[in-house]
Amino acid sequence: QAEDRVRQSTPLVSFRMDPFADTLQRLREAFVSGRTRPAEFRDAQLKGLSRFLRENKQLLQEALAQDLHKSAFEAEVSEISISQNEINLALRNLRTWMKDEKVSKNLATQLDSAFIRKEPFGLVLILSPWNYPLNLSLGPLVGALAAGNCVVLKPSEISKNTEKVLAEVLPRYLDQSCFAVVLGGPQETGRLLEHKFDYIFFTGNPQVGKIVMTAAAKHLTPVTLELGGKNPCYVDDNCDPQTVANRVAFFRCFNAGQTCVAPDYVLCSPEMQAQLVPALQSAITRFYGDDPQSSPNLGRIISQKHFQRLRGLLSCGRVVIGGQSDECDLYIAPTVLVDVQETDPVMQEEIFGPILPIVNVRSLGQAIDFINRREKPLALYAFSNSSQVVKRVLAQTSSGGFCGNDGFMHLTLASLPFGGVGSSGMGNYHGKFSFDTFSHHRACLLRRPGLEKIYAIRYPPHTPRNLRV
Ligand code: NAD
Repeated sequence: QAEDRVRQSTPLVSFRMDPFADTLQRLREAFVSGRTRPAEFRDAQLKGLSRFLRENKQLLQEALAQDLHKSAFEAEVSEISISQNEINLALRNLRTWMKDEKVSKNLATQLDSAFIRKEPFGLVLILSPWNYPLNLSLGPLVGALAAGNCVVLKPSEISKNTEKVLAEVLPRYLDQSCFAVVLGGPQETGRLLEHKFDYIFFTGNPQVGKIVMTAAAKHLTPVTLELGGKNPCYVDDNCDPQTVANRVAFFRCFNAGQTCVAPDYVLCSPEMQAQLVPALQSAITRFYGDDPQSSPNLGRIISQKHFQRLRGLLSCGRVVIGGQSDECDLYIAPTVLVDVQETDPVMQEEIFGPILPIVNVRSLGQAIDFINRREKPLALYAFSNSSQVVKRVLAQTSSGGFCGNDGFMHLTLASLPFGGVGSSGMGNYHGKFSFDTFSHHRACLLRRPGLEKIYAIRYPPHTPRNLRV
């Protein structure tokens, strides 16, 4: 029974008819009461989030290790610290971000007050994925709470250990009249999406993104969609192959390749490929040893379903590095494929695993054409000793984000917006962009009650004299 699988963190309510109605009603009432609006309240929620991270660090590390075999290093840098940094930044800047933003005025409004007010949308739904189950829940949550919204968080049911911590522990650190975690898979989320929210923030794959956006359209609810896709990685002939190999292998294998911004495939000349393959082998052996399966630093595939899909992709092209897999351990070896055709399945779908196909191109122009023939990616990487080459790739393509000569370091900057374009998503967040995403930018003009003689010039009957003014 789908309904029996729906659990709600707090409070436990009867959900025979509609599992979510009571919770949503409670949150709506809290928002209407205005209690989430004062800076002090928002401050307290953000401090609660911070305490949650500090006091449950070990629990979270264990959950992430159970879900994804995430190493303590990866858990720290890509889940815990990154979330903590977002919280700290919001706490430091909250009052500045909340301030009305004065705008320039025209002749007719010189004596008036014109400004943009950042006001909360109301009831926000955050749907998060399993690959960075903590970071991709807390990151948007920081923005939503800082902006003064009430929030329903629906974490991924697939990363079930982290889901449990988020459902059972996190609410204790927040005001439960304004925040709730609801649980469930696709079916339950479908039911949840029948409700009207004031904003929906979704992170996941583009197919589900379409389902979310269709449901949101029924209520004209605005959405941010943080989606995925295939991120190209152009490697120029003019570069140091070992340096490039170190960086590409590291970012491809981080979280066992299950990263939305991971370099998905390499585009390079056959000559560069001949140097890159041994350099990749050297990097992988240095990072994970001769037997990567026994390395504590390499993650595992999240589920049987994802493992089977990835194992199927190993038969594309020719394996030159890795290629081993172990179903019982959900292990896929760091793998490099060559002789890959554009039509191969590995070049049709987002890989989301530690598999790196190399596709040969004859020139930079051909690489750019290849990239532009496909959907706009979430991230794009270009490696070259020539800044002209990097700048040409940047100028002649489009993607959510771009990093020259490295992997996904651009997302570590809270001063940059993080988000996709085209099929990789819409909208963005991180740092102040998160606050702005979860705030309605209300256009305000406060005029004077007097001065009617001047204002009267607008009123009919209009004469040629009016038009001259
Ligand atoms: P997913 O789309 O399967 O799941 C995301 C959320 O949607 C989960 O909470 C899930 O329960 C829910 N969901 C799944 N199917 C649903 C359905 N049919 N109806 C309603 N809700 C449904 O994504 P995932 O597998 O958890 O994550 C992997 C995908 O997410 C990849 O495509 C990856 O690129 C993308 N991703 C994007 C970003 C980003 O920031 N742009 C970050 C991480 C992951």
